[in-house]
Amino acid sequence: MIAVEIGAGSRALVGSNLLDCAGELIGKNVGPRCAIISDTNVAPLFADRAKRTLTTAGFQPTLITIPSGEESKTFEQAGAICDEMMAARLDRQSFVIGLGGGVIGDISGFVAAIFHRGIPHVQIPTTLLAMVDSSIGGKTGVNTRDGKNLIGAAHHPALVIDDVDLLKTLPQREFNQGFAEIIKHAIIADAEMSRALRHVDLNDIAPLIRRNIEIKAKIVADDELDHTGQRAVLNFGHTVGHAIERAGNYRTFLHGEAISLGIVAACTISTKRFGLPKDQRNTIVDLLKSFQLPTELPKDFPRAKIREALPFDKKFTNGEVRFVVTSKIGSARVSSDVTLIDIHEAIDQL
Ligand code: NAD
Repeated sequence: MIAVEIGAGSRALVGSNLLDCAGELIGKNVGPRCAIISDTNVAPLFADRAKRTLTTAGFQPTLITIPSGEESKTFEQAGAICDEMMAARLDRQSFVIGLGGGVIGDISGFVAAIFHRGIPHVQIPTTLLAMVDSSIGGKTGVNTRDGKNLIGAAHHPALVIDDVDLLKTLPQREFNQGFAEIIKHAIIADAEMSRALRHVDLNDIAPLIRRNIEIKAKIVADDELDHTGQRAVLNFGHTVGHAIERAGNYRTFLHGEAISLGIVAACTISTKRFGLPKDQRNTIVDLLKSFQLPTELPKDFPRAKIREALPFDKKFTNGEVRFVVTSKIGSARVSSDVTLIDIHEAIDQL
């Protein structure tokens, strides 16, 4: 088992066979009551084991299962979860466990942030994307009809337990989308990792997960409140990626797939305006392709809808965009010089 510091005094534990020791790993400072929040795909796979380890460790778990998918990440669903937690007599000493992917991580973290004005949140991520990205950094929240993640709270997890064995049941497409965020981390912070990704051993993925946690945690720690702009480099590929997700009604592409396309667009702009060598852009595109991630839009995809969706992104303020660019693999910065025309051209080229 590998332990990684993730800021705010918390740790992520990465390894095999961790789910069955979760009760022990959580320790004695919280509880005894807790809520395991999970979804309809994940709960049948892992909830019994989670309940067993918690009960053995002296906790009193209540399982709350919500429908799987992004549609569940709503204010109403968060309220319903809080009601169930009240009914199960959870109190200020209780804690919340998110057992699932990024959707469960985000909504369970939001519930933990608001229940009795904040109780501890333990994450047991079950997707690659959640392990390397969404469980780190303390951003929690829900979607509204106006856009994704517009309501939320900063609430760092007290503990993250990454059991790599849980990834074995993950559908291939869901597994692959995690690599969009991993490749993003390589582009913005680790040229060495971008080389290593070409021959990564998927049967021994814990070291890769650890490295990605380190990268994200360091960037977050350097700009905890999202004020200096440093944390914004994590948005590389996300301005166009979010617009593509929205234009596809959150159905055509998975989050990571949309981000893959957004990364290609950000590279196109970086090559045109910020000196990213063409061969490095091609290396990135090849890397995305090697994990079966999309690098071109389907011919009939409505590009005009992507343009319309751009201003909904949080990175647009007063019509200006803070766009993340790279001049060479391994580093990135925020620029205010990217114009809407640059972005539209990059979308047209996708
Ligand atoms: P997800 O939680 O919807 O999981 C994807 C699908 O896989 C779901 O159908 C789920 O039920 C299923 N699943 C999960 N684990 C499984 C397993 N082990 N075996 C079989 N099926 C499994 O989606 P995701 O891709 O993990 O996360 C996307 C969400 O994360 C989005 O809502 C996004 O906004 C959020 N996110 C948050 C942050 C953050 O910093 N908070 C960062 C990136 C993404």
